[in-house]
Amino acid sequence: MSDLFAPGTVPARHWTREADGRIRCDVCPRHCRLRDGQRGLCFVRARRGDQMVLTTFGRSSGYCVDPIEKKPLDHFLPGTPVLSFGTAGCNLACRFCQNWDISRSRDVDTLADEAPPERIAAAAVALGCRSVAFTYNDPVIFLEYAVETARACRARGIRSVAVTAGYACPEAGAELFAEMDAVNVDLKAFDPDFYARVCGGSLAPVLETLEHVHRDTDAWLEVTTLLIPGLNDGDEEIERAARWFADRLGPDVPWHFTAFHPDHRMLDRPRTPPATLARARRIALDHGLHHVYTGNVRDPEGDSTRCHGCGAIVIGRDRYEITSWGLDARGTCARCGVRCAGVFEPQPGSWGSRRMPVRLSGLEL
Ligand code: SF4
Repeated sequence: MSDLFAPGTVPARHWTREADGRIRCDVCPRHCRLRDGQRGLCFVRARRGDQMVLTTFGRSSGYCVDPIEKKPLDHFLPGTPVLSFGTAGCNLACRFCQNWDISRSRDVDTLADEAPPERIAAAAVALGCRSVAFTYNDPVIFLEYAVETARACRARGIRSVAVTAGYACPEAGAELFAEMDAVNVDLKAFDPDFYARVCGGSLAPVLETLEHVHRDTDAWLEVTTLLIPGLNDGDEEIERAARWFADRLGPDVPWHFTAFHPDHRMLDRPRTPPATLARARRIALDHGLHHVYTGNVRDPEGDSTRCHGCGAIVIGRDRYEITSWGLDARGTCARCGVRCAGVFEPQPGSWGSRRMPVRLSGLEL
């Protein structure tokens, strides 16, 4: 049997035939050029005969019901549970990867849980989730699977969330993000040299993705930056990023600064001190951004949402728990009436901080 018909293998989109006989993948800026039988750097897209294929359609490395705040998304259906899943592989090679067992996996045995799009949507409904998140690894590299799953979810009233590094070519990114209801983009640094040395990528396509999602789609956007001591946490770099952020994305897009812990091929750096997160948050607020958060540390002030009109806490949080709610049914501050940007319902969900791993194959749907 041809490999093209192996389980999980489907024809892929976004590629070009080159004059020398190779096929160029146009999903991400790496533009892998492949001969028959070769895989791209992401490992999950490959050339089979005269076409590109995705080899992980309907295959997952695991599922978990999480609080939506864990993605992190603080202005999108707060307090609700999200069915999170990922596949394998990645199109970046970050030395500090915090999910490296999945992202660097070359072992298809990690893709043990089979789930076609319809089954994921049905599972989300059965588990009481409001959304499905493509996370753990980057949906850019499995976009055909993510797009079809998002459509199946929409048909059942389930929203879709992409957690991504945003390292995509414009056409492929446009196809993926058009199907999403919310997107969290990981802005790893504001330094092209960092992207080249530490991630094996480049900054400019990520900034283009950020602007595209904000300007051209209906998806709710939030941004995350993992601060690594001595690498991307300097005042000058954060100030440059904050100026770009305020200018291109405006004041209402939330920005999360999260703490690094030593992992993968970066074991020589210490954990990020809470004071570094607080300093970065202060710089971003001073540049006019309305909603700047800290993550991976206990910091009720940095977790909570304040009204930018009157300063009142409109969503109090302690890590992933919602501790107070001060928005009215239209998402405006109950005290001063200024609207808080985001996707809100009259009341928050009550999922709390629970994390519930699930096996879809074990569910009766
Ligand atoms: S998506 Fe994968 S195969 Fe395509 S260019 Fe990027 S790394 Fe290469």
